[in-house]
Amino acid sequence: MNTRTKKILALLKKDYPKVKCALNHKNPHELLIATILSAQCTDERVNIVTEKLFKKYKTIKDFAKANLKEFEKEVYSTGFYKNKAKNIIATCNILQKKYEGKVPKDFDELLHLPGVARKTANCVMGNAFNVPSGVVVDTHVSRITQRLGLTKNSDPVKIEKDLMEELPKNEWIMFSHRLIWHGRKICDARKPKCEICSLKKLCPTYKKLN
Ligand code: SF4
Repeated sequence: MNTRTKKILALLKKDYPKVKCALNHKNPHELLIATILSAQCTDERVNIVTEKLFKKYKTIKDFAKANLKEFEKEVYSTGFYKNKAKNIIATCNILQKKYEGKVPKDFDELLHLPGVARKTANCVMGNAFNVPSGVVVDTHVSRITQRLGLTKNSDPVKIEKDLMEELPKNEWIMFSHRLIWHGRKICDARKPKCEICSLKKLCPTYKKLN
C-alpha cells in the first residue's frame, strides 16, 4: 500500500469511525434479499421496501413460497422488479433445497445463486459473516475510487481487482462502507463538496479542478 493510500484510509477512518452496512437487515437472508433488491436502486428505497417485506416474509421458506405476481408488486418500486422477484424466489427455493434453509458462508456458492453477482456475494460475506471475500464496488465506490485515482478502470470487476491489490485484506469491508457514506455526504455524483472534503489534498480530481 503506498503512502497516499495509507493517508486516504486514515482520513476515512477518522471521518467515518463507526459506519455499518447501509441496508437494514437482521440476518444473512435479509441482507442477501436486500442486496439483490439494491441493484440499480438507492439503499434508502430498498430500506423502505424491506421494512414491510421482512414483516410479511420472516423466513427463507416464506420467500420460497411467495406468490410471484404479488411479490412483484411488493418490490415494484425498486425497479427491474420482474427479474428481482423471480431471482429472489428462485434463490430462496435453492437455499431451502440445497442449503437446509440457510445462506451458505461461501463466496463461490453464493455466486451461483440467481441474481447474485460479485457485489452481492461480497456484501453478504463481509456483513453477514465478517469474511472479507473481496471489495464491494457499488456506484459510490466506483465513482470515488476513480476520482481519487485509486483505479484507472471503470468496470466494477477491474476496480475491485485494483482495490484488492492495493488495500490490506483487513480493510476491505470497512473501506467500502466508508466510501459509500463519503459518497452520500460529500463526494456526490453531480456536485461533490470538495471544499469541505478531508481528502481534497490527496485527490487528483480536486487538483485538476483548482
Ligand atoms: S476532493 Fe472532491 S472529488 Fe475528491 S474525494 Fe473529495 S469530494 Fe470527491
